[in-house]
Amino acid sequence: MKPVTEFITKIEDCKLFIRRLDLFGEGVTGNKYYKLKYNILKAKKNKSKGLITFGGPFSNHLYATALAGKINGFKTIGIVRGDEWSSKTNESSTLSSCIKNGMKLFFISRSLYKQKNSVYFWNLINFSSNMYYVIPEGGTNKLAVKGTSEIIQKNDFVYDSLCCPVATGGTIAGLIKSSNLNQNVVGFSSLNHKGLKNEVDNLIIPKKWNLINNYTFGGYAKTKPELISFINKFKQKHSIQLDPIYSGKMVFGIFDLIKTKKWFFGKNILIFHTGGIQSIHGFNQRQKKKGLSCILN
Ligand SMILES: *Cc1c(COP(=O)(O)O)cnc(C)c1O
Repeated sequence: MKPVTEFITKIEDCKLFIRRLDLFGEGVTGNKYYKLKYNILKAKKNKSKGLITFGGPFSNHLYATALAGKINGFKTIGIVRGDEWSSKTNESSTLSSCIKNGMKLFFISRSLYKQKNSVYFWNLINFSSNMYYVIPEGGTNKLAVKGTSEIIQKNDFVYDSLCCPVATGGTIAGLIKSSNLNQNVVGFSSLNHKGLKNEVDNLIIPKKWNLINNYTFGGYAKTKPELISFINKFKQKHSIQLDPIYSGKMVFGIFDLIKTKKWFFGKNILIFHTGGIQSIHGFNQRQKKKGLSCILN
């Protein structure tokens, strides 16, 4: 089984295709399927007792790790950013799903969360990393890139540009690794993080690629009414659900760049829909609470 590719539309003289990673996977879908694949194999090989990972209260990675643990028979521990969430897990469908799938959650303050890679932190939480397999925030490490380098298929050389959203960069690193030299790999930042390009280049043998930073809509999980209305219209027109944190911002950016004649990356474009549909419910919960418009789904 391979993820399907659909033709979306033609704008100006660009043809847009979308690879539906969002519909692909075994329980765990989207880019997280590829990012976790070899990490899970390694945890099995190590005979780890469980998986520990990190994330915010709406993290697709936390959700995917809980599910992967359940499917593969691992205990899972999730360290959640923001101690105020311990008393309101029902306000995040992501956290509720994690709990339902057997993940044990620990809620820590933002300042402690920032120290999550320190010895101090690991002494404090008192989990042995010998027994637990530790997956970093967002799931990006070398084994994740081994997985995401399998996203590109044999015949994808027919496309002259490959686009994906970027957060910790593990997904685009795999695309860059597997792409041909004549292909444009174009990443769209979903957050404001200045060191991102270097971090990706450290994961792989550096190759030319492009990072667009103009469509973050204010930062990670931030939004604007025009983004929401774009996602809703896109769904009406093309019957494809985009998420507001990653693929929605990217597709908005691609359309906008082509329409304003600022797209210089080729005319046969393959867009990777990386998934993340589970976040929409929680996103809408927050929007509704603020009296803002919601994503129709
Ligand atoms: C996690 C995630 C990303 C970001 O992937 P990185 O490898 O961290 O750059 C993109 N899209 C979706 C839907 C995600 O869940």
